[in-house]
Amino acid sequence: MSIEAQPFDGHAVSPATQAFLAKRHGLLINGEWRQGRAGDSLTTSDPATQRLLASVASGGAADIDDAVAAAGHAFNGPWSRLKARERAGLINRLARLLERDAALFTELEILDNGMPRFIAGLTVSNCVEMFDYYAGCILGIEGVTTTPPPHVTADAEALTYTLREAVGVVGLIVPWNVPVSTLVLKLAPALAAGCTVVVKPAEETPLSALALGALIIEAGFPPGVVNIVNGPGETAGAALSAHPDVDKISFTGSTEVGRKIVQAAAGNLKKVSLELGGKSPVVVMPDADLDLAGPGVAMATFFLQGQNCMAGTRIFVHSAVHDALVERIVAFAKGFTLGHGLDPAVNFGPLISAAHAARVMAHIDRARADGARVVLGGQKLDRAGHFVPPTILTDVSPDMAVFREEIFGPVMAIHRFETEDVDTIAAMANDSVYGLSGSVWTRSLSTAHKLVSRIRSGQVSINCHGAIATNIPFGGYKQSGWGREFGREGLDAYLQTKAVTARL
Ligand code: NAP
Ligand code: MG
Repeated sequence: MSIEAQPFDGHAVSPATQAFLAKRHGLLINGEWRQGRAGDSLTTSDPATQRLLASVASGGAADIDDAVAAAGHAFNGPWSRLKARERAGLINRLARLLERDAALFTELEILDNGMPRFIAGLTVSNCVEMFDYYAGCILGIEGVTTTPPPHVTADAEALTYTLREAVGVVGLIVPWNVPVSTLVLKLAPALAAGCTVVVKPAEETPLSALALGALIIEAGFPPGVVNIVNGPGETAGAALSAHPDVDKISFTGSTEVGRKIVQAAAGNLKKVSLELGGKSPVVVMPDADLDLAGPGVAMATFFLQGQNCMAGTRIFVHSAVHDALVERIVAFAKGFTLGHGLDPAVNFGPLISAAHAARVMAHIDRARADGARVVLGGQKLDRAGHFVPPTILTDVSPDMAVFREEIFGPVMAIHRFETEDVDTIAAMANDSVYGLSGSVWTRSLSTAHKLVSRIRSGQVSINCHGAIATNIPFGGYKQSGWGREFGREGLDAYLQTKAVTARL
């Protein structure tokens, strides 16, 4: 396939990206690129132009079997005998290669996902940091010594210590919304822990995982430590999550598929970590700094076109500041520049696919029919690509579908409330099956901390929303997930504890 230099709304991509797109893309199994056993492929396109980007090999259950076997072999092979320092060295080398190729990865994320350049750039530099962070953690993986153990023997000395060991072969199943970073967020700690992995990227965004696969080979990881099988969730993903030789699945995606993963995992009772959906509350109190809250609340919903698990999408605004805040949010949202993410001026891209844009539009139409008022947006753009503009709905009541269901698009639903009672406000904020993120906007320290302690979410922010950093644990309460990623807890997810007692 030949790719012209400037096919993307007139924006150029680098020669490295052109060369990557023109490659034949296989599955990475046991350190080698190969086609799937059934010879299938899937195509991926640019959501901003609907232009075909690449065709990549697509695997099924038989390829998952091969990949799991390779990962199992690698787990018991040289990988497990590497010194911690050597493992850290490989991960650091991978970080340096990713840094070297940052421009390629940035362009691939923009093209495959549609994200604006500033987000793609951030994503790639965060991935470099994650590899370095978890490589740095390796020498800190340590058990504890306890002596003597309380109840082993009455007549002899004994020594007990604990070892922190890798969980084993781990399946990493990731979504399309931030492809490389949701992958590296799992891969970096899994490798640091000493696990081997089989990666199943999202069908919509197969490219950055493949580019990372090439760097993993270049860095010199032993064959089989990282295997990458693109393919459909219903076949490749399901086979991986049901596989008897897989010790753990780490999944990021929808709550609906998360439930299927748990069911599939029941066969061999593999461990499961889940980062799932959200419908996060944003509470704006009457004493909020509106100049801060206007842009802050707008970004809470519209960052990454709302295709963001921690998006704040249930906006509770106190009556006293409702109109003034809505005015500021609308003014801010009108300032977004929509277009192709390759354009550095663009800060709002398309949605991932035609099907997803249609789903988002159906939510907007349903909200209209339910009595919500559209104060901005609400119509799909009449141009190539899947562009739904920032859409702001007021007069939304908490029972409307738009206020309850995860939309995963640029749709803000605003509910006006009257009370200042923190228990009542928290009860409204908690009226959701999800509990991923949330934020509270107020000048009062007391109100802020009272609300924070009452909101049942894994992440609650004060006068900002959705702070993500390598060392801040992130994960869901309720149906938003099991376990935490990022930080030390993100590494613990790939370790298990062995207690050893020696009678002396
Ligand atoms: P999704 O439909 O759940 O898909 C996620 C991944 O699972 C994809 O790789 C998908 O493959 C695969 N999959 C689908 N069916 C499967 C099955 N039966 N067994 C195993 N794997 C299967 O989610 P998405 O639409 O890609 O992403 C959006 C969702 O992810 C939203 O709900 C969002 O909130 C959530 N998310 C959560 C976080 C977080 O950290 N909590 C972060 C980002 C996104 P295919 O691509 O082939 O369908
Ligand atoms: Mg794509």
